[in-house]
Amino acid sequence: MRMLLGLAEALPSLVEAQFKAARASAALAFSQTELAIIRTSAGIPFQLRYCPALAKKPEPRKDDAPKKTFDPFENPPRELFITDIPVNNPSHFLVLNKFPVITNHSILATKINKQQTHALEEDDLEATYACLKAWQKNGVPSRQNRLFAFFNSGEHSGASQPHRHLQFLPVDSMHEGERSAGWELLIDLILSCATTASSEPIQHPSLPFTHFAYKFSSEPTGADLLKFYNDLYRMAKEAVDKFIAANSGQLSLHSVEEGHLPISYNLAMTTAGIAILPRRSEGHMLRGDNGTDFGFIQLNGTTLGGTLMVKYQEEWDVLRAQPHKLDSILEAIGIPRMP
Ligand code: AMP
Repeated sequence: MRMLLGLAEALPSLVEAQFKAARASAALAFSQTELAIIRTSAGIPFQLRYCPALAKKPEPRKDDAPKKTFDPFENPPRELFITDIPVNNPSHFLVLNKFPVITNHSILATKINKQQTHALEEDDLEATYACLKAWQKNGVPSRQNRLFAFFNSGEHSGASQPHRHLQFLPVDSMHEGERSAGWELLIDLILSCATTASSEPIQHPSLPFTHFAYKFSSEPTGADLLKFYNDLYRMAKEAVDKFIAANSGQLSLHSVEEGHLPISYNLAMTTAGIAILPRRSEGHMLRGDNGTDFGFIQLNGTTLGGTLMVKYQEEWDVLRAQPHKLDSILEAIGIPRMP
């Protein structure tokens, strides 16, 4: 049985109406970004977004973390809450991101406070897929009505909230007419490298980080999704283990006490497939050729969508002028490809 959401209205209308109202009442703070498309040296397009508003927000210090008890997904305000998922006997709920840079950015959080760093469960994956599917008019994907899902887990993944949540970005909101010309969702490019009739995981030959993906050949059940996830996770863990064995002292596994997973990773899903990116660092220092530090570039699961964001003018200028620096960022945040 596939999960039926039981919504009274189409999912995009629900989210769009709530977003519009929340923006108008300032219940959410939308930040404008400038957009440029830059390419890795192998020609893979990334959206580079420049968001100066982010530089004004003080970064939560790592050593403050234990004191921080506020959970934005514990009791979200009415203005941000969209719907329970599914409506009857819900395992999750959908809420607007309070600090979006993309319109209609929503978040699927667990009803009870589960851990972001525990393994995902079948209902997390099933609810995610059900939302991806519900976004598509009559279930058929097109550029105008697709959703991109991503997930960040672990201290190197770009995650900030410990209450389990996956996030959704409408692909149409990520596009910006001519300004995004030439860009495609990275997970689509990865999935396009599938060879016919192979059950092997898919890898894009020109990406500098280790990643693994599966294309859905038919509509997956919850059990199928869980199997894909478990298989991808196992491969990601093996890649991290191999890296640690070959590069002593550079990376260590996380403590697995209380059921936490030993690695950091990002996951992405569309109705076409699922991909994983094991991580070794939350970001990378952008350096000039003379050794000047321009800023620490942080990446999360939107990397698998083919996007990254910077906060400072210099980072924005340097990456547009020298896009090959993107290669070293991507290599540094993930596990370098084994020859
Ligand atoms: P992550 O950083 O991957 O853990 O994702 C947390 C997400 O929650 C980010 O997209 C934040 O912008 C968003 N967020 C932070 N505080 C709130 C809040 N009070 N209500 C809704 N979303 C929030």
